[in-house]
Amino acid sequence: YPTITDSDPELSEILGLEMQRQSGTLQLIASENFTSKAVLEATGSILTNKYAEGYPSKRYYGGNIYIDRVEDLARNRLKALFGAEHANVQPHAGANANAAAYLALLKPGATVLAMRLDQGGHLTHGSPVNFSGQYYRFVSYGVSAADGDSGERIDLEQMEEAARTHRPSLIVVGATAYPRIIDVEPVRAIADSIGATVLFDAAHVAGLIAGGVYPNPLGSSEGGANKGADVMTFTTHKTLRGPRGGAIVCTSQFAQAIDKAVFPGLQGGPLEHAIAAKAVAFQEASLPQFQTYQQNVVLNAKVLASALEQEGFRIVSGGTDTHLILVDLTRFDPNLSGKEAQEALDLAGITCNRNQIPYDTRSPFITSGLRFGTPAMTTTGMGADEMKLVATLIGRSLRHRDDEKYLQSIREEVGILCSKFPPPPFA
Ligand code: PLP
Repeated sequence: YPTITDSDPELSEILGLEMQRQSGTLQLIASENFTSKAVLEATGSILTNKYAEGYPSKRYYGGNIYIDRVEDLARNRLKALFGAEHANVQPHAGANANAAAYLALLKPGATVLAMRLDQGGHLTHGSPVNFSGQYYRFVSYGVSAADGDSGERIDLEQMEEAARTHRPSLIVVGATAYPRIIDVEPVRAIADSIGATVLFDAAHVAGLIAGGVYPNPLGSSEGGANKGADVMTFTTHKTLRGPRGGAIVCTSQFAQAIDKAVFPGLQGGPLEHAIAAKAVAFQEASLPQFQTYQQNVVLNAKVLASALEQEGFRIVSGGTDTHLILVDLTRFDPNLSGKEAQEALDLAGITCNRNQIPYDTRSPFITSGLRFGTPAMTTTGMGADEMKLVATLIGRSLRHRDDEKYLQSIREEVGILCSKFPPPPFA
């Protein structure tokens, strides 16, 4: 077979450049990671050729004898990974998983209580420009005010009051920019008091849960009252280190509704090559070395957070329990926006994203914060020493953000650091 290099040199060149970017600059985006070669191999496999609408042994097309085995493998591995009563591995992405959960759990126009988008919630948690905000009535809870190391935590009193006032059918927990562990038990109690269901959006933390460094929020419908979430949605490509995609686990009570919502409710043919890659990732996530990896992800995030604090940055909530750090730039320099900081860091070869901080006075496009994450750097083998170095590189870059030559010299330092830690697919 011709390789892409021979058959499509134009695309091949772009792939080569992206490979250089991924391996030669620092990847600090909290939602990114480097998959294993096995995950890449499954993603690029011949399974991409097959239509398989339906579920194992209930397909609408012939020829699915091996496809069924692939999807069953993925479902069973996923159930074992999270101790789940039911698993659906077909959602194409995290947003699709959330859409399916809403379709399964809600009537059009139903009220949903979720985290404020400007304090960590995701677009699919009720943004007016997203389907969620257009088809359902979202109300929100937020975090407490900044208060040393104990502020900027999910405000349960606010959640309870909003639940009592608005009587939502569903409470959504889980976020895109919240650095602390979320305890699902008090949320369950609030939901039970008004007869609501609980959806935990573990898009960011699924890998931490699988690796045993974050409590598993998924509940059970067997053996008494459910103390956890009814449904947990997540992405497979962030901390979980699998292919781009989504998945859902739930209690058996919601199994049928979830399956019907994914197919035929929302999607057509599943991406079986991606499902095969999910199966590989679920297996990798069940190994002891994955637990060590996740412990290092969190350890690295804690070291990076305190080193950034020494550089003069304020860390939202005073630190992190997870893979994610939210930096408030206003103490470092009140004139520096997240947008400007992100662009300067890009020139220095440090890839991250700007983010609003709780009670931000700047718009979501400009912001006063930066979000950093350690999953990708930890996959390359970087540890505490490198995190301290990365913090100084960030501090120096932002102090000299108007000096392009200086940023170029940082980029060279970044290149030297990265050359010592090649990501797995390039190693
Ligand atoms: N939910 C949360 C909390 C997320 O952070 C994200 C992605 O960032 C998603 C859902 C959506 O995932 P995807 O980008 O795969 O659609």
